[in-house]
Amino acid sequence: MTRSKYLASLTDEKRRQLERRLHDRQTKLCFICDEVIDLVLHKGEIDIDHIDPLAKDGLDAENNFALTHSSCNRSKGTSNLEVARRLAEFERLQEQARQAGKRGANLGDVLERHGGSKAQLRIRSKNGNAEFSLSEVGLNEIRRVPLLQDKLSGMQSFFTSLPLEYLHHDDRINPRSIGSNIRGLIEEFRDSRPQLHVALAWWEASEDDAGEIKVFDGQHKAAAQILLGVRELPVRIFVTPDTNVLLQANTNAGGKLRQVAFDTAVMRHLGSTLYAERVNQFRNLRGLSDNDYSFSEQDLVRFFRGEQREMKRYIVDAQRDAVMRAPANSLVEFVEWAGKGANRPLSYTAIERSFFKEFLYKEALDSSIDQELEQGTNPRQLERKQLICIMNLFAEVFFIGKWDPEIGGRRIENRLRDGDTIQQSHLRAWRVAREEVLANLLRWLRLVIENYFAYTGQMYHNDRLLHQQLPDSLWDRMRNFLTNISSLPCWIDRDFSGSIFGPKRNLDFWERVFRTGKTPDGTQVLAQPLDLSQLIVPREGNSKGRHELTNSA
Ligand SMILES: [Zn+2]
Repeated sequence: MTRSKYLASLTDEKRRQLERRLHDRQTKLCFICDEVIDLVLHKGEIDIDHIDPLAKDGLDAENNFALTHSSCNRSKGTSNLEVARRLAEFERLQEQARQAGKRGANLGDVLERHGGSKAQLRIRSKNGNAEFSLSEVGLNEIRRVPLLQDKLSGMQSFFTSLPLEYLHHDDRINPRSIGSNIRGLIEEFRDSRPQLHVALAWWEASEDDAGEIKVFDGQHKAAAQILLGVRELPVRIFVTPDTNVLLQANTNAGGKLRQVAFDTAVMRHLGSTLYAERVNQFRNLRGLSDNDYSFSEQDLVRFFRGEQREMKRYIVDAQRDAVMRAPANSLVEFVEWAGKGANRPLSYTAIERSFFKEFLYKEALDSSIDQELEQGTNPRQLERKQLICIMNLFAEVFFIGKWDPEIGGRRIENRLRDGDTIQQSHLRAWRVAREEVLANLLRWLRLVIENYFAYTGQMYHNDRLLHQQLPDSLWDRMRNFLTNISSLPCWIDRDFSGSIFGPKRNLDFWERVFRTGKTPDGTQVLAQPLDLSQLIVPREGNSKGRHELTNSA
């Protein structure tokens, strides 16, 4: 709460009088949550605060004060009471929507609450103009607006501004609900920054030549302004379009087209839709151009401060997406996407809990997103590229040409016990792919990298190992390590099918096996504990091919 000289100067009696006046002015309701404030029952739990904060040149005077529950004021998470009030209103809409079984509120809910979505519009096309009249809201004059024809698609549209009564939400083309990032927009519009992109809508006459104006793009901006009391919004309206074409165009615009328009490496980084949405929104509100990447992940996290944790997750999600969808990633074809299926040895969860757990930096970076992109030393770019290299190394050592999809993995340990012959390389692939084994192997691989830096006396950031280019000699060590691991007899030992690989094991089980050579109950699995210094040197029979960093990642 902002410190007020005015309030501090009041006597107790004067302050109580002020409370009562505000209480009357607000018809006894809390300025933020719109619930009743009881001057007796809530005594001591009532705040007087500035509507426009002093820090933003708000006046320290009675007409800039409002009465709130103390708890509402504390939890508002914004400096501005007006914004807090709008957010509280939106929260109530969210809650109602969820209770009605929806994922969240959308523009339709906001419109409905504010008296919108009531009327249909009649539009006549005449002499290159769209003609219409807003008689449902008492505006009977005929409006004429030029109809514009899109040269290549032939679609016709016009720009106008319409009262809420005529606006409807299109939840087919835009099925998403409104995210908590609406906070940023409310603050931005509240601070008198203009709307840069108008909402998009379409119209088609249904019965009686009248039809609804269906808004399919720009719902966050529209909702934010409506919550702030705006009663009329600018909109571009497509007239009797093929809505499937619109749907496709809208999907492409948010997806692959932007990717073509800019460095593919960056666009993969933005692969996660949610992340891309936030980035676009950030740009819109900052007035940045479509291919401006001069801001940092930290800037985004700070900007969407109502959803910092989510924002960080979007950033990491986008990175994961990019790694898993990269054409250069050859491990992907061994990954079962939902659970652990029978035809592919790896589960996606196993990938998350091994490769991504050890090597993906989970915090937001403070360097600009396009930093050193052209030189190829951008930290996220390096992270992606080298993660893919590590995955490819695994694929090469354990899976490619070794895993036989025809044999699969169903009941494989049982079949062994029943006396089936299973190819050794296939069995190895299956066993190494177990989540608890893989997770421990990746821990050890991480050790290979850390030890290298320690021995060569280099500084390194423990959580950001892949944000620098790993030298070739280190890649050689990693390759040696994996190749040596693959030659351990335990992966192909038939006798272990019941004891070691039969039941599900946890992380600690294999941590112990690798560290001591034995299981927690003392069964010998390895001839000796894993020894890093031996495992990183090539042994007879192992291929010594140098791993090449491909640029295609
Ligand atoms: Zn309240």
